[in-house]
Amino acid sequence: MNSRRIFLQKASASAVAISIPYLPSFSKPFSRIEEQPTQSDKVLRVAIMGLGSYGSRVAQAMEDSKRAKLVGLISGTPSKVEVWKEKYSIPDKNCYNYENFDAIKDNPDIDAVYVITPNALHKEQSIRVAQAGKHVICEKPMAINAAEAKEMVDACDRAGVKLLIGYRMHFEANTLKVVKMRKAGEFGTIKFFQGLSGFMIGDPTQWRLNPALSGGGAMMDIGIYSINGARYMTGEEPIWVTAQEVKTDPVKFKEGIDETITFQMGFPSGVIASCLSTYSMNNLDKFFLNGTKGFAEMQPSTGYGPIKGRTNHGPLDEPHIMHQTVQMDQMARIIFDGVEPEIPVDGREGLKDMVIIDAIFKAVKTGEKVSLG
Ligand code: NDP
Repeated sequence: MNSRRIFLQKASASAVAISIPYLPSFSKPFSRIEEQPTQSDKVLRVAIMGLGSYGSRVAQAMEDSKRAKLVGLISGTPSKVEVWKEKYSIPDKNCYNYENFDAIKDNPDIDAVYVITPNALHKEQSIRVAQAGKHVICEKPMAINAAEAKEMVDACDRAGVKLLIGYRMHFEANTLKVVKMRKAGEFGTIKFFQGLSGFMIGDPTQWRLNPALSGGGAMMDIGIYSINGARYMTGEEPIWVTAQEVKTDPVKFKEGIDETITFQMGFPSGVIASCLSTYSMNNLDKFFLNGTKGFAEMQPSTGYGPIKGRTNHGPLDEPHIMHQTVQMDQMARIIFDGVEPEIPVDGREGLKDMVIIDAIFKAVKTGEKVSLG
């Protein structure tokens, strides 16, 4: 029986246990993406779907990208399209809206669509892009639960297109340096990870506080960085989670929108992680990794940078390059050159985080320790 079917069976049969499908991604030998030869200079021609705040940042970042270029727009707001068309010299034939973008299948000038819309829209939009035969780059969280994420992975597999998740930290130089040091044993045996991820959210009417569009609160939006970080910093996949929720403002953070969740994860080697996800505290962007021989601390650890920190060997001072520029260059190499990134960014990687988020929500609800695997 294949692993996919086993996953589906386990997912439907289990009351408390939640399965993480697929093998851990960290079993590959270490080889930094920058050290691998570039096999082509082919430029990835990208259409952005959702011309919002983060879409604007990605578009700006692509101006400095050598391997990715903004060539198309998908938007529900014609006035934005007019401005972007002018700014980025996008031809009319590469502009679409949410009703007609399936026609992108007949457009040979677009290779990939970067989905940068509210979380709950990612699944349907990504699947439509895949069915149109284009590669999908999708923002985090890739979906609003693991079942949806799995549908996206399957749809992209079926369509024969790549599915990559916008995990920009997976290409960030200081992050990669810490991961390399950990793999080289420079911190000894890893024992503990702490991840603090949060900010004070403003406007109560925004989609992030509407469960129908966000699929959850701080956990989906910012807590996911601590989950994902715990996995790449320790190099292990969690086998259990516990979690506790605190809600101080039930009007702003209505049912389905988590305000603050503390959560703990246990890993096969005995490593433990202790994390905080919140929409109610500022200046929370910190990772701490502790081993028997050393440590790494990063603050900020996942913001737009520069990422700062130190290890027991000294400061983390790799040069800062706009994260999204590096990400888009490297994603072009993944798509066209078959390069394997040091820390995966594919749909299966995103799915692992969604399985953990499902488990955290279950742990909050039941008060139980939830097993994974
Ligand atoms: P914004 O609200 O700024 O932009 C979202 C855009 O999606 C809108 O401007 C709109 O563009 C489009 N959209 C389509 N349908 C809707 C709808 N029903 N309601 C609201 N907007 C809609 O959000 P962000 O850009 O901040 O976030 C978008 C995604 O990017 C999220 O998944 C988020 O988690 C992710 N993100 C990732 C970050 C990272 O560092 N990797 C950082 C910030 C966000 P249009 O008018 O063109 O249709």
